[in-house]
Amino acid sequence: MKLSQIFDAIDGEYLSQGIDNDIAHLMTDSRKAFDLESGLFFAIDGPHHDGHSFIPELIKSGFQNFVVEKEIGEIPKNTNVIKVASSVKTLQAIAAVKRAAFNKPVVAITGSNGKTIIKEWLAQILSEKLNVCKSPKSFNSQIGVPLSVWPLSEAHDLGVFETGISEPGEMLPLKKVIQPTQGIFTNIGSAHEQYFASIDEKLDEKLILFEGIDQLYYRNDNPLINEGLNRMQNPPKHKTSWGFNSKADLQVEKKEGQFFQLKSQNESFNLKLHSGNEPYIENIMHCVCFAYFNGWTPSEIQKGIDALRPIKMRLELKKGINQTYIIDDTYNNDLAGLEIALDFLAQQKHYPKKSLILSDIPQSDPKESTYSRVAELVKEKGITQLYAIGHELADFKSLFPASTKFYPSTEAFLQHSFDAFEKEVVLIKGARSFGFEQIAKQLTERIHRTVLEIDLDAVTHNLNVYRQLLKPETKLLIMVKALAYGSGGSEIAHLLQFHKVDYLGVAYVDEAVQLRKAGINLPIMVINPSEEDLPNLVAYDIEPEIYSFLQLKTFSEFYLKKGIALKGHFTINTGMNRLGFDPEDLTTLIAQLHAQPHIKVQSLYTHLAASDEPIHNEFSLQQLQTFTGYAQKVEQQLGIKTIKHALNSAGIVAYPEYQFDMVRLGIGLYGIEPCGNLQHELKSISTLKTVISQIRNVKKGETIGYGRKGKVTKNMRVATIAIGYADGFSRIFSNGNGEVMLNGQIAKVIGNVCMDMTMIDISNIEAEEGDSIIIFGEKPTISELAKNAKTIPYEILTNVSDRVKRIYFAE
Ligand SMILES: *Cc1c(COP(=O)(O)O)cnc(C)c1O
Repeated sequence: MKLSQIFDAIDGEYLSQGIDNDIAHLMTDSRKAFDLESGLFFAIDGPHHDGHSFIPELIKSGFQNFVVEKEIGEIPKNTNVIKVASSVKTLQAIAAVKRAAFNKPVVAITGSNGKTIIKEWLAQILSEKLNVCKSPKSFNSQIGVPLSVWPLSEAHDLGVFETGISEPGEMLPLKKVIQPTQGIFTNIGSAHEQYFASIDEKLDEKLILFEGIDQLYYRNDNPLINEGLNRMQNPPKHKTSWGFNSKADLQVEKKEGQFFQLKSQNESFNLKLHSGNEPYIENIMHCVCFAYFNGWTPSEIQKGIDALRPIKMRLELKKGINQTYIIDDTYNNDLAGLEIALDFLAQQKHYPKKSLILSDIPQSDPKESTYSRVAELVKEKGITQLYAIGHELADFKSLFPASTKFYPSTEAFLQHSFDAFEKEVVLIKGARSFGFEQIAKQLTERIHRTVLEIDLDAVTHNLNVYRQLLKPETKLLIMVKALAYGSGGSEIAHLLQFHKVDYLGVAYVDEAVQLRKAGINLPIMVINPSEEDLPNLVAYDIEPEIYSFLQLKTFSEFYLKKGIALKGHFTINTGMNRLGFDPEDLTTLIAQLHAQPHIKVQSLYTHLAASDEPIHNEFSLQQLQTFTGYAQKVEQQLGIKTIKHALNSAGIVAYPEYQFDMVRLGIGLYGIEPCGNLQHELKSISTLKTVISQIRNVKKGETIGYGRKGKVTKNMRVATIAIGYADGFSRIFSNGNGEVMLNGQIAKVIGNVCMDMTMIDISNIEAEEGDSIIIFGEKPTISELAKNAKTIPYEILTNVSDRVKRIYFAE
C-alpha cells in the first residue's frame, strides 16, 4: 500500500510530508524498525514507555515514515509524519482495510487457554495443503492482532489469528480487524478476572468475536459455554461441536492407551494421539474438529498429528563454543518466523558480528518474491555472514551478498569446521526437514547439564512494576553488581540500556569495565573503587563512590593530574556504618569540595540499614531525616544541585515519600520483594534446572552418599541429580533440608549434598533418567530455599556458580 492510500483510509493530518513510499511493514517496536523507506512506525504512548521518545533515534538512522499522537520536535525534510488521535486505533483501521481486501476464509481463535498452541498446530496441519497466514507467536492484543493481519495477501489461502482480551470492550475492535468467517472457541477458565464482574460477563465479551460469522467450532462439554452461545443475539450461522458426549457433532471416546475413537454422523474412526493429558487432548481435538469438518480425511488428520512438533513459544540465547552466542530456532522456517528471529538477533549487542545459518523455506510461493524478501531481511538486519543451506537458496544465489557461503545440504554444512565461529552471535534458522538441531548441538557449549534460565521478559515486567511506583521525575539506578545478582551482567545491562534506565550500579570497577567492553554506555556508579582502579575509571568513564577523606585525597590528586573532573558519588553514613562520611565530617567535606573545583558532586546518597523490616521503621526514618538535612547543607553551602538518593528495593516500597531524585533498585528487579508486600506483582526471572543422571532402587537398611548419612528406612527409589554445592546448591540442603521439583512433585534431598551431585528420594514420583529437575523458580521459590537454608534470597541468587550455564529467553 502506498502511504497516500493509508492516509486516505484514516483520520489524520500530515505534520510533514515526504516521498509517497510503498509501505510494506507496520511496526510499533523501535528495535524492529530497520526498514527505512517501506516501514511505518506507530508511536504509541503506553503505560511503560512512550514510543515517541524513540523517534529522534529512528530519524537519525534514516527511518522515514511515522504515525504519531503528539507533536514531535524538529522533522527533517523527506520524513513522513502523520498525526492521529490514537496510534493504536489507526493501526487497527489500516489492518482492517487490508483484511477487507482478502476474500478467502479467515479463522479467529479465542478462549482462556490454548489459543497459541491451537493456532500453531492448526497452521502446521493445514499448511500441508494450504498457504496459511497466521499470527506470529502470541500476537493477540490490540496491537498484536493488527500487526498479524497486515501481511495477509493474495498468495494466502487462509488466515488464522488469535485474540486475547482482559477487559470489557476489547473484543469488538479486534473483531473489526479480523472480520472472521470462521471461529474456534477454546474454553473458558474459571478464574475470576480482575476486570469482569462474573464469568458470564467474561464469556459474553469473548463471544462477541463470533457474532454473525459463518461457522463456529467449539467443545460442548461445558454447560457454561453452551448457555453463553444460546444467549447470543447474533449467533454464528452454523455451530459445530466436539465433545465427550452423545450430543456432540464429533463424539470423542477414549480407548486403550493413546487411542481415541471419534464418531460423526457418517463414520467412526480412530486416532492415535501423543499423550492422554487433558489440556493436550482439548487443544488437539479443536484442530481435529476443524480439519475434519473442512474435508480432511481421518488418515490425513492422523498424518498431520504425527508430524506435529512441540511449539517453542520463545527464542533462547545460549552460550556457544568460542565465546559465541547461539539462537537456536530449528523447528520451522517461514518468512514471519524468520523476521522475528532476525529481530531477536539484531537486538543482541554482544558482538558486532552476526551470522545466520539458514535453510530453504519450503512451501513458500512464489519462490522469487520469498527469496528476495529473505535477501532484503539479511541486509536490513545487519547480517555479517550468511550460510545458506539448500537448493532453493542456491537457485537464487544472485540475490544474496557475495560473501554468502552455500551448501547443498545440512550434511555438507556439518563438514565445515566450526572453529570459524568465534565471538559472534549466530542464528540457526531452519525448516524441520533440514535437521538443523545437529548444527545447534555442535555449536552450543556443553559443559554441564545444570542451567540457569533467565526470562528477560520477566525482568522487563519487574522493571515496569517498580517504574509505576516512582514519580515521573525520579531517576532510576539499577544495581547490577555481582553479575546482576547472578543473572548475568551484560545481558541484563543491555536490556536495561534498551529500556533507558538512568544509571547502573556495580560493586567493583572490574564489573564496570566488563560492562563497557560489552557495549554498555549508560553512566555507571561503582560502590567500592580502589586506588589501583584509577586508570580504568578514567579510561572507561566510570563514576566512583567517594566515602572517605583518604580516598578523596588520592582520587582527587589523580584526576587533577589528568586534568579532568572527578565526578564522585558521595556517600553519607547515617546508620549503616559500612562506607561513607559521618555527619560530623560535614564541615570538613564541604570545605574540601570548595577548595577543589575539579571535584563534582555527581550525587549524594545514603543507604538504609533495615528498610525491609517494619520493626526498624523509626530508625529508617531517622536515617532519611539525617540525610535530608545533610544533603540540604551540602547543596546550600556549595551552591549546587545534585542527585540525591537513598532507597533500595525495599525502601522504594516502604518509604515512597523519600524518593528524592533517584532510587537504587536491586533485588526487586530480579523478582524478589524483600518486604513481601509487592511479591505477588513480581515475576520470577530465573529458574535453576538440572537433570536426573541415574535412578536406582535402594533396599531398607542401606545408606546413601558420603558419611553414610542418608539412612534408608524403607525400600526406596533414589535419583542422582547433576547439581552439588560447587554449583551453588548449598550443603545445608543435605538430609531432607532441601526440596526440589520433579514432574510437578516435591522430592526431598537424601544424604549429604556432594560437590557436583545430590541424591533425592523419588519413591512416590514417576520419573526417568534425563528428566528435568527444578531447584528454584516459580516453585520452589528462591525465598523458600533461602528459608530452608536459614539465609536470605540474595545469597541463593548470587551463589549460583559460574560454571552453571545461563540461558536467556525473550518473547
Ligand atoms: C546492593 C545495593 C542496593 C540495592 O539493594 P537491594 O536491596 O537489592 O534493592 C542499593 N544501594 C546500595 C548502596 C547497594 O549496595
